[in-house]
Amino acid sequence: MTGSIRTVGVVGAGQMGSGIAHVAALAGYRVKLYDISPERIEAGIATVSGNMARHVHSGKLEEKVRQDALSRIAPAKTMEDLSDADLVIEAATEDETVKRKIFAQLCPVLNPEALLATNTSSISITRLAAQTDRPERFIGIHFMNPVPVMKLVEVIRGIATEDHTFELAKNFVESLDKTITVAEDFPAFIVNRILLPMINEAIYTLYEGVGTVEAIDTAMRLGANHPMGPLQLADFIGLDTCLSIMQVLYEGLADSKYRPCPLLVKYVEAGWLGRKTGRGFYDYREDPPVPTR
Ligand code: NAD
Repeated sequence: MTGSIRTVGVVGAGQMGSGIAHVAALAGYRVKLYDISPERIEAGIATVSGNMARHVHSGKLEEKVRQDALSRIAPAKTMEDLSDADLVIEAATEDETVKRKIFAQLCPVLNPEALLATNTSSISITRLAAQTDRPERFIGIHFMNPVPVMKLVEVIRGIATEDHTFELAKNFVESLDKTITVAEDFPAFIVNRILLPMINEAIYTLYEGVGTVEAIDTAMRLGANHPMGPLQLADFIGLDTCLSIMQVLYEGLADSKYRPCPLLVKYVEAGWLGRKTGRGFYDYREDPPVPTR
């Protein structure tokens, strides 16, 4: 644990929020997990429990450590339950309107000294910070998916972020046994600025009929030595999140090279968001998953 941070609030109990709760609880923090949907909180805690159980099975974790970590995670029924958090990490849907609403509700109930962080993949930290009552104590802490596995965390300062906030955030991330990389506050930061245009290009490659889903993923796995094909990775990230990031790049950098592929838009409009909804470029209701094109 790090100095003044003991209790961590997490807003959004989806793929990322539950992963953040997992690693923070294992590192000894008390965690309060909030979501607009109570079922998601329950499902998030169940996911953490299941993932930790797998680590016990494979000998990476002791059962006692798992039990202790789980006992440190509590559901937050309302945002008010986050009032004693020293750090709150927002990990809700990648939509600026959603995030703004959360900060408007959250700030009045928070301890005035509490740090506020966002796990956004692409949205301007400076702009989000300006919506809060504490831009100097606001920072981007961008975890990678799946959080318990991935070593990197990008830390992004907004224009007003104080040095002390940065130091606390850096120490917090390092206490989770992660490596930080510092990115400037430009659309999609470093990892997604590079990764998402590649994924979008893979979707154009599919859209233009250059290859099938299987051909494109095999090509990049075996031809570029990527551990996952780009379409498989897109499904893993969530196609709604991929589209939001491309829109932020397109609008934020005003360059047509970031135009989201119409096929990506179509999948999102269909509600085929990838693994989390059971269907995307692959259909996960089959085992093994079957390409949808
Ligand atoms: P997700 O769809 O799995 O989860 C989002 C959660 O936010 C849902 O449980 C939803 O109910 C909740 N939510 C929506 N509105 C809310 C509100 N007003 N208050 C509280 N909760 C609300 O999405 P995710 O993949 O976990 O992504 C969450 C954030 O993390 C996004 O900002 C995303 O860009 C970022 N991120 C995602 C990835 C990835 O690979 N998926 C990687 C890094 C960062």
